Amino acid sequence: MSAACGPGGADEPRGGIADRAAAQPASAPPPAERLSLNTATVREQWNLRQMIEACGRHGIRGIAPWRDKLDELGAAQAARLLRQHDLTVSGLCRGGMFPAADAAGRRAAIDDNRRAIDDAATIGARCLVLVVGGIPAGSKDLPGARQMVIDGIAAVLDHARESGVPLAIEPLHPMYCADRACVNTLDQALDICDVLDPHLAGGRPSGAIGVAVDAYHVWWDPNLPRALERARPERLLAYHICDWLVPTTDLLLDRGMMGDGVIDLPALRGMVEGHGYRGFHEVEILSTRWWRRDPDEVLRIARERHLRCS
Ligand code: ZN
Repeated sequence: MSAACGPGGADEPRGGIADRAAAQPASAPPPAERLSLNTATVREQWNLRQMIEACGRHGIRGIAPWRDKLDELGAAQAARLLRQHDLTVSGLCRGGMFPAADAAGRRAAIDDNRRAIDDAATIGARCLVLVVGGIPAGSKDLPGARQMVIDGIAAVLDHARESGVPLAIEPLHPMYCADRACVNTLDQALDICDVLDPHLAGGRPSGAIGVAVDAYHVWWDPNLPRALERARPERLLAYHICDWLVPTTDLLLDRGMMGDGVIDLPALRGMVEGHGYRGFHEVEILSTRWWRRDPDEVLRIARERHLRCS
């Protein structure tokens, strides 16, 4: 890569990051200690123990496990290892997937989310990320699916509150509406927060529920600046980074490394932090290309790109 970020390098025609950043509060590089490793980034190469040890080697201070990796190791054992390595858990991925074709399926989802909340509490996660789920098989009822999401979150919110685990609704790009998440914009996620955890008169929201802002899913949204202002800062629970490649060759597994795509990550970070977010920058790259690389090299590049391109 050249010194400038992005596929166009120093000759990028649309105004480089340096130009844009000058107009944004986040013109300085991010503090290195804000970087967190979402385990999806190296999930094909390492187990959770290896990931935790690698964070120590690479000076990465945060981690966000996915539940499959956590289940392999066990939450209690993971909690011990995380403490030994002085790692902060920026989030547990993931709860959600609430809509189902019948009542038994919806109850099973609620039970699964309660277990996820318990595991998140055990490892001291700052939030449980919710990928809320799409339309049940055989259904075309999108409004109905969205109502199932609200009902499902409502059913577990008290347990989350009592467990000290904030729930972070992650809106997903609309291309996932049918099969992964029928919450697709930050405003839509904030509407759910406002229904389930209204601002008390003249006061602030409780912090029991908020949003995970993933650059990959929200960068395109013309209402994003206003939605971030609306979220600030009590609803801003997590910030995920990667990049949008052009062309994208797979709907799920072709996310880019920061700097390799078209998202103006410094400008986005400027907005997120301009509205009071002070948490981790969680690098989450689901990519068959990066899964073929040496995972230590992936972390070394992620660390460098975090500083230079986000
Ligand atoms: Zn994410």
